[in-house]
Amino acid sequence: MITATTTAYDQLIDHVKQVSLLGSTASLLGWDQETLMPARGLAHRTRQLAQLAKLTHQMKTDPRVGEWLGECEADSTLTSEPLSESAVNLRELRRDFDKATKLPESLVVELAEITSQAKHEWAEARKANDYARFKPWLEKVVELNQQKAECFGWDRDTGESWDALADNFEAGMTAASVAEVFTPLRERLVPLLDDILGSKTGPSNAFNELKLPIDQQKAFVKDVSEAIGFDYARGRLDESTHPFCSGTHCNDIRMTTRFHEDNVNDALGSTMHESGHGIYEQGLPEAHIGTPMGQSVGLSIHESQSRMWENQVGRSKAFWEWCCPKLAQFFGDAVAMLSKDDIYGGANIVSPGLIRVEADEATYNLHIMIRFEIERLLMNGELGVDDLPGAWNAKYAEYLKVDVPNDTRGCMQDIHWSMGAIGYFPTYTMGNLYAAQFFEQAAAQLGDLDTMFAQGDFTPLRHWLNENIHAHGKRYRSADLMQHVTGKPLSADPLMRHLEGKLRPLYGV
Ligand code: ZN
Repeated sequence: MITATTTAYDQLIDHVKQVSLLGSTASLLGWDQETLMPARGLAHRTRQLAQLAKLTHQMKTDPRVGEWLGECEADSTLTSEPLSESAVNLRELRRDFDKATKLPESLVVELAEITSQAKHEWAEARKANDYARFKPWLEKVVELNQQKAECFGWDRDTGESWDALADNFEAGMTAASVAEVFTPLRERLVPLLDDILGSKTGPSNAFNELKLPIDQQKAFVKDVSEAIGFDYARGRLDESTHPFCSGTHCNDIRMTTRFHEDNVNDALGSTMHESGHGIYEQGLPEAHIGTPMGQSVGLSIHESQSRMWENQVGRSKAFWEWCCPKLAQFFGDAVAMLSKDDIYGGANIVSPGLIRVEADEATYNLHIMIRFEIERLLMNGELGVDDLPGAWNAKYAEYLKVDVPNDTRGCMQDIHWSMGAIGYFPTYTMGNLYAAQFFEQAAAQLGDLDTMFAQGDFTPLRHWLNENIHAHGKRYRSADLMQHVTGKPLSADPLMRHLEGKLRPLYGV
């Protein structure tokens, strides 16, 4: 017999699956826009995406969703087991519905309009190194984000407005929880970096100076991504200016990479990174696609999957044991003069610089900490946009020991703030921290991963990730997933062990 409440749950699930079909269609159009769409198609594409966004918002805020949720939440058979399929779906759908309905439509529209213009002004100001041009737009973005935070709310006793924004990217992430792992990470990263910079020895950069034909690079990175487990029967690899991975369904994953003749390491790193995202999406449970139980946990956990394949695997000595012969197979004499040590070392050069997206594994996190600290100050009004360049440059001098020559290579380098994405950056470093801690646990349970990697056997690690992380969908929030998988809260220790264990021997410090 079908009870009234069962019907409400079924109707709710049916409805969110329909919303998800619209979302995945938009995602496919977005992928096409970055890869294949002819330039003149832009105006029409913008209308298509706007129409889908409007329909999605209408369906998400449909008053029936609130009624179905209310009925389901009153039925203890659906909610009494907090980690059951129905309880998890209801928990996450309630969160989505509340978020979608808490913002007044006028603010949603104003944010969309202002950020669309701000993105354009940012791009022009960045080209011209003209912070004064970008400043009023950034000011408006910050102000609208402060209003947005007021609508969502935050813990007035222990929290701050930044928390309300960060929660959109990572459920439960707060400035305090981020600082709790960032502070000890920074305290240990800075001395490591000082030692490395003071060292008279270090790896050769020869690998990063090779010129290798792009056609061969394409075949090479595809081969590696297939070997680590990206399933090309259920996904594609194409090219775009900024690599990304978009999932429309676990059986249709679109990822992109980029190629430069003189930087095969960038193409390989980008491809392994996006493959990590893709392997996660391909590992989500097919029966639950379209519902929270079939979705990834959040940005930090997603990023942990990409970083693990890129860094813990792709920059390890064992990986290069397997991959060096492969390089020779694809590029022949061009790489013959390099030793395995040259290649492994070249993949792990540490060099503090101005640009986040070009940063190495060790200094990358300092770029993120600077942005995190500045965002908090902007949001709580302690830093005005007038003083942003000065604050930025001072932090770069202090943390990375570099002088910022201009705002284009300084506080205007990233697109995020112009898009209104405040609270996003820390998910990158959180991803690095999660990756290191998950990887240590995988190694403890699976045994000698190095021997497996050296033989090109990546299946045990992939299966471990499938079982422990991917198959759960959104069952656990990030912090709970970490506790569930490793038995410990997130800590800076595993990432520091990973970096120190690798970089100190390479730099003789
Ligand atoms: Zn990523």
